[in-house]
Amino acid sequence: MARSVGARPRKAQREEAARLRAKLGECRSDQWQRAQVIFEELCAVCGVTGPSYSLMTPRACRFCHMYGHTRQYCPRKRVAEERARDREVAEASQIKNQLPQQATCSAAQWAWVVCNEAHDAVYAELRAEGWPWDETWEVEHWRRMRIRCPS
Ligand SMILES: [Zn+2]
Repeated sequence: MARSVGARPRKAQREEAARLRAKLGECRSDQWQRAQVIFEELCAVCGVTGPSYSLMTPRACRFCHMYGHTRQYCPRKRVAEERARDREVAEASQIKNQLPQQATCSAAQWAWVVCNEAHDAVYAELRAEGWPWDETWEVEHWRRMRIRCPS
């Protein structure tokens, strides 16, 4: 009876599989031939056999183009997203600071800045446009508030 796909490798096999996975993770998408060879070794070590064996090919991550993981679990994507988030947060607070400050603006301007209707209008607008509820939303919110602020 053929061993089932995804069977748990024994200890020595596990170590060999980990070594091959690490090796696979060092391949770029243009090294697909090398990746295929390593992948086939990995399948053999893990006891993955069966009619679909010959059809199996490794897939490179669609974000960083490296083998060994998918876009969903990409470590480079995670770092890039964290950086982008930090940038958005910094930009949002910078734009927020460009709005008139109470100490230096007219009463009319200040009334507008703290006016809930102004925020609500921008909120409704962003919702209608389908903005994702994340840091990009906040940046856009303050950007629009600043644009509309009476001078
Ligand atoms: Zn990746």
